[in-house]
Parts: sequence; C-alpha cells; structure tokens
Amino acid sequence: MIAHADLVITGVDVFTVDAARRWANGLAIRGDRIVAVAAREDDLSDLIGPSTERLHLPGRTVVPGFQDAHVHPAFAGRNLLRVHLDDLGSRREVFDAIGTYAREHLDEPWILGGGWAMALFPDGLPSAAELDAVVPDRPAFLMNRDVHSGWANSKALALAGIDRSTPDPWDGRIERDRTTGDPTGALHEEAAYDVWERVVPATTPEEWREAILVAQRHLHALGVTGWQDAWVRPDLLRAYRDLDDAGELTARVSAALWWDRHLGLAQIDTFVEQRAWGEGGQVRARTVKIMTDGVAETCTAAMLEPYLGADGVTTDERGRPYLDAEPLTEAVTALDAAGFQVHMHAIGDRAVRKALDAVEAARRANGPNDRRHHVAHLQFVAPEDVPRFRRLDVVANVQALWACHDAQVDALTIPQIGEERAARMYPFGELRRSGATLAMGSDWGVSSPDPLLQMEVAVTRTDPSDRDGRPLDAAEALDLPTALAAFTRGSAYVDHDDEAGTIEPGKRADLAVLNRNPFEREAGPIGEVRVELTIAGGRVVHRRS
Ligand SMILES: [Zn+2]
Repeated sequence: MIAHADLVITGVDVFTVDAARRWANGLAIRGDRIVAVAAREDDLSDLIGPSTERLHLPGRTVVPGFQDAHVHPAFAGRNLLRVHLDDLGSRREVFDAIGTYAREHLDEPWILGGGWAMALFPDGLPSAAELDAVVPDRPAFLMNRDVHSGWANSKALALAGIDRSTPDPWDGRIERDRTTGDPTGALHEEAAYDVWERVVPATTPEEWREAILVAQRHLHALGVTGWQDAWVRPDLLRAYRDLDDAGELTARVSAALWWDRHLGLAQIDTFVEQRAWGEGGQVRARTVKIMTDGVAETCTAAMLEPYLGADGVTTDERGRPYLDAEPLTEAVTALDAAGFQVHMHAIGDRAVRKALDAVEAARRANGPNDRRHHVAHLQFVAPEDVPRFRRLDVVANVQALWACHDAQVDALTIPQIGEERAARMYPFGELRRSGATLAMGSDWGVSSPDPLLQMEVAVTRTDPSDRDGRPLDAAEALDLPTALAAFTRGSAYVDHDDEAGTIEPGKRADLAVLNRNPFEREAGPIGEVRVELTIAGGRVVHRRS
C-alpha cells in the first residue's frame, strides 16, 4: 500500500531544473519532501488519499524555491524597520522620509537607517548640512544603498570625533571641503564602518531577530526559500541560532562569517567556535566572507588599469585591494584547510585575479576538495581570467540586476572607467560559455531582492525601469533556463544545500508557484511575473492574498 501525499499540485507547468531541464505537469509532497513529479496528472492519482490537500492551479508555473547566494537580510530587514530610503527617486522624497521618521520617533536617540542612492546627489555625495536641516536635534547616520558609504549629520560627526584633523583610514575616505578640509558628511568604506562600530548604539539581540523575521517574510513573498547571508558577525549568528531553536526560521540559511581584514589567521579559531555553536537545523555556518576590494563608484575597486579623472584623462589611481596577495592567499589556504568555504567580494579585475590566485594557491597546498569557493559581483573580469573559474572550481556568484545601464552606472561608473571597459562589464555570458558554475544573488539591501526582476536583467541586460533603453553588451545576456538554473540549483550548490535547487523526487519541497509562465515572453516582462505561493520544507510560507 502506498503512503498518500500531504499535498498534490496539478494543472501547472513545472520547470524542474533537473539535469535534462525537463518540464512536468504536477507534483506531490509528503512531509518536507517531494515524493513524485509527473508528466500527467493521472500519474499522481495513486498518491491522493482522503487527507491529501489538492491544489489545481491551471496557468501557473512551479519552479524550485529561489536561493539568494549573496544577500544581507538582517541589515535590509533592520532598514525596513528604520529610515528606509530604498527605491526613492528624488532628493525631496529622501528628505521627506527622513523628516517623517524623525517626527514619528521622537524618543529614539539616533536616527539610523539607509538605502539612499548616490545617483540622487551631486557627485554621489550628500552633505551633513542638508541632513542637519531635517535632523537638527539628534545624531543621524544613514548608509547608502550599496552599504559602502555613510552619511552623517553634524551631531554624528561630532560624536565620532571626526573633524578636519582626522586622518583618512587606509581603507576608507572622509569626504572633505576642498578649501577648509572640514568633513562634509559622506564617509566611505572603513571611515563609515568605524562610526557604526564606535559610536552608533549596538543593535540589540531582539532587534536582530525582528529584522531577520521581517526579511524572511519579505523574501518568502518573492519565492526565496534559502539564502547565503554575506555578512554574519557573532551577534547575528546568535540571532539566527535563536530563531532556529524557536522554530521560527523557515528559510535555509548559509551564514558567511565575517573576515576582519585588520586581524590575521588567529581569527580562524573563532570561526571554528562559531561553526560549532552556530550550526544546526536550518543554519549552516561554514563559510567565511572576505572583502577583497571596494566599489567602482568611489574608485575603491582594485583595477588592472587606472581610473579616468573628471576630464576623461587617465589618472594613476587603480584602487587598492583590501588585502595584499600574500595575506589573502594565506587566509584562503588556511580557511580551505580548516573546512571553510570562502566567499570573496571582488568588483575590480585586479581583485578578481587576486581572488582566483588565492584559490589556486589553496588548491596547490591542500589538493582538490568540495568547498565550492565563490567570488561575488564580478563587475570586471579580465578575459584571461574567465576560464579559471571552471578550472579552479570557483563559482561565479553574480548580481544580475546591476548588469544594465542604470542611473548609477551611467552617472558614476562609466565616466571613471571609460566606454571600452564598460562594454565588458558583468561578463556573465562569457563565464557561462567557459563552463563556470553560476549562482545568483541580489545583494539586498543594496538592490532589489526580487529574483524575477534580476533574471529579467540577466536575460535582457536592460534596466527594468527603462525597458526600451539600450542594453549593456547584449552578447553577455543569459538565456532564461540558465538564469533560472543559476538562481535555484546554482545557488543551492554554492550554499551546499544539495537537497534543494531542483524539483525531483526525494528533494526537499522548496517551491515557488508563479502566476504565469515566465517563458511566455509575449505575456509580459519576466520581472512582472508574481509569486503566488511559496513552500519551504513542505510548509506554505507565503500565499498571495
Ligand atoms: Zn554584499
């Protein structure tokens, strides 16, 4: 006698993302597992018993639950609970949002939050004076959308002790008035993080848990059932651990522990400890995240060739890797030996090369293994480095939404790197053709966590807010099956979540049900497809009302 299914879904198109990229028309779930995938509905009838729930959903498409391979849910969730400037299209809206929040939270000692877009401000730089005008009474500190720059008002600068005599940290920059040398309010990289760490009140354990739960709801509503959190310090790992122990974590989470570049190899012992108490249930904690450079917008990405100056003339600035080749190689080799996956941030082509060199050295020292190291962002990759991803078994972790001519790229990036290098940005097609494994992630709160919107850009290379605009090197576009595979099985691979990523019998029941088939392009843009139902581990975690 056959055990009946708990849930049977019929009438749908199922894109299984199995090795043969097969389609099916129905599936059955028992407990947290997929027990059958059928080409014909009749093939499921034996599994239907008196207590089986049935969903007949004609016109819908089922895909594996998306996995976001590089995301900051806790930070993004915390921003949703604070001043929340994402997606605001004008400076007026930004100031209105900050002012409204400040008026509604009179008892909060600091005004905190983030998500502002550099493209809204002259030269990408907001000022302390403008922020003083809306928050005169309290310190205010707001991170930008890509979380590489901060914006402080005068009270926050004073509390942090930042004035004209404060030197720039070696891995950060304080923007200054050209004549007086006074700080103007914008702080980059370590100059911004230093304010967070020294002066801003620490986020409480309760705030972290609340932030993760808000983010989890948001991501489930977009069909995301698992992710790699790309910046996890011990207090955040504790919050994940506590939520999982309380049964509140429904997503699979791979936590990337934070490599502090100011400390050395000794911190690996602390990662081993964190892995020991942090892992279990829905949480995996055997990845370490290393920032190898900054971002192109502020010329902190490490490039092989120099940036251009304001006049379009070549400068001698090439950015600077955060870690020299030797400490980076030592770190990756030691982490690899200690059983950790390494997740490297690399934007510039010099940083990408150094990251690959480090993995190559680790492979030489430790031999081949299944750590599945990955490099995220990959805005610039030298042609000769493209085949190394496959050769070294390094996953290309791409943020597809950035691969288009949006306001930030056109206003801030291209003038500093020139059209020639811009034409080869985000070479996803080349990576794919070289046989590299692709994973996808949003980098939310940096940009939208909507997987379908990201896949639209992967396929069209065109800004979804200007769909008739010019594409960014259309030859680098991916086809939709490739993009879908990257966001499901590719990301599950990099998250070491081998029970997910495809719809096959025996796999965990992580699914997203879409309101229409994204392959039917005449029905509308991929980014306008909506997730109606999300199932994680056999449980319905989102149902669109
Ligand atoms: Zn990130």
